[in-house]
Amino acid sequence: MIKKQSVLIVDDTPPNIWVLKEALKNDCDVLTAYSGREALDIAQSKQPDLILLDVMMPEMDGYAVCVALKSIQESKSIPVIFVTALGSEEDEAMGFEVGAVDYITKPFNISLVRARVKTHLVLKQYRDELEHQTMKDGLTGINNRRCFDDVLAKEWSRMHREQKPISLILMDIDFFKPFNDKYGHLPGDDCLRKIARCLEESLHRPSDMVARYGGEEFACILPNTSAEGAYSVARTFQQAVANLNIANEKSTVCKCVTLSMGVSTTTPSDGETFTTLVKRADDLLYEAKKEGRNRIKTSG
Ligand code: GH3
Ligand code: MG
Ligand code: MG
Repeated sequence: MIKKQSVLIVDDTPPNIWVLKEALKNDCDVLTAYSGREALDIAQSKQPDLILLDVMMPEMDGYAVCVALKSIQESKSIPVIFVTALGSEEDEAMGFEVGAVDYITKPFNISLVRARVKTHLVLKQYRDELEHQTMKDGLTGINNRRCFDDVLAKEWSRMHREQKPISLILMDIDFFKPFNDKYGHLPGDDCLRKIARCLEESLHRPSDMVARYGGEEFACILPNTSAEGAYSVARTFQQAVANLNIANEKSTVCKCVTLSMGVSTTTPSDGETFTTLVKRADDLLYEAKKEGRNRIKTSG
């Protein structure tokens, strides 16, 4: 299941790239860039696992490229190794100062380059795995509460800057305690997994996200989405869960497992925090429960 890792080689001299590419092509996918600008573009769009960066290049030198990479969200955590003819201790120190993880001087020994690249790729893999574990829910595999909190904070400030609406859907499975009591905890877990996957598959925009919010509660963040748009996503969720057709004899509102939802929307204003958005969705969810469950309540 582990995806093949990729390395971006950046050098303005094609033969240097060919030699490195030849040396690494069996260990990983190799991407190439012949200038700093091109390197920045590829780093952001392709997100390589490691960058081998030449220092002396026209227009933008390697140090400047590294500083730029470290200042951009999409590329800041990609490890950089300098590969350069500048071999003084000052040059090397400068490389580490701008954020590199390693420094290789030319002319280089191919086996040493391969070994160092492999070491950094292994470290990168551990880091990715750790990041995955801290952001995903162990039971369902979808985003967890921590990831939800992170994304909501980020999207809230983005929508504040752009003065666009942001919507939030909070969902809670109806009669889930009696479901567990009747069918058992394992089928309960299985039901949570099915619902998580089905909510995730119902989303289409890259910036939309769904997370497990608590025990049998899920939350969905919809940036740049109006109240009408959010209601329509909520309807899609409701329909998708109905299509799963998971029997719940203990439900008094339906033969199958259903959700109650609260949907809130706002365009963030100065001084307002996302807590108000969450609170409103939570209040609406409570109303949906009180009014009989298996329904969507919106503030609009
Ligand atoms: P309501 O319709 O008002 O939402 O009632 P409910 O029974 O769904 O809600 P309540 O909050 O009383 O119970 C939630 C239940 O969800 C408690 C527990 O049995 C179940 N639950 C929470 N987390 C898990 C989990 O990880 N696995 C399983 N199998 N069940 C869970
Ligand atoms: Mg609950
Ligand atoms: Mg419930």
